[in-house]
Amino acid sequence: MGSPSEDVAEILVSEEQLRDSVQRIAAEVTEEYAGKSPLIVGVLVGAFVFMADLVRVLDFELEVQFMAASSYGEGTEAGVLEITRDLPEEIAGRHILLVDDLLDTGHTLSRLSELLMARGAASVKTCCILDKPSRREVPFEADFVGLEIPDQFVVGYGLDYAHSYRNLPYVGVLRSELYTS
Ligand code: 5GP
Ligand code: MG
Repeated sequence: MGSPSEDVAEILVSEEQLRDSVQRIAAEVTEEYAGKSPLIVGVLVGAFVFMADLVRVLDFELEVQFMAASSYGEGTEAGVLEITRDLPEEIAGRHILLVDDLLDTGHTLSRLSELLMARGAASVKTCCILDKPSRREVPFEADFVGLEIPDQFVVGYGLDYAHSYRNLPYVGVLRSELYTS
């Protein structure tokens, strides 16, 4: 078996671009949340790399947790979002920042936001390092966005293909022959 990087056909977002985006988002997030003791909630698994980079450049009091959700349902029906790992504590009155790797159809972050608001959060905002605006199926925009990318399947910086490639330090597109099913 070769290295993950050998399967990459093109680097779409470099490590430097990712670093710059994290810094810019961190400045925006600091402006919004410094002094509010927010609960920063990463959406597993994909958000783990971005979360680790983001929270380490935030210099104010905050808490970190993770949730996991999987969507099913297809075609024209809106997918149902199942919470496969929930928060360990109640969040009533808390300021929540939901962090995901990539905003695609919008179902995941819009449903999770609604859920956390329904549990009595003081506020819920959303953040993603990558955004594919052309893929949206529900009207939804994140409050803090890194970079917009075209409608291409990408891996790396937390994002997987068949559970692999999450550890690539950049965002890339795989060689097309790897997708043969
Ligand atoms: P949505 O916004 O469609 O509800 O969910 C977005 C999620 O779908 C992302 O967090 C990510 O896990 C997955 N996803 C969307 N586009 C891609 C992609 O290009 N590559 C990978 N690996 N995952 C994607
Ligand atoms: Mg995800």
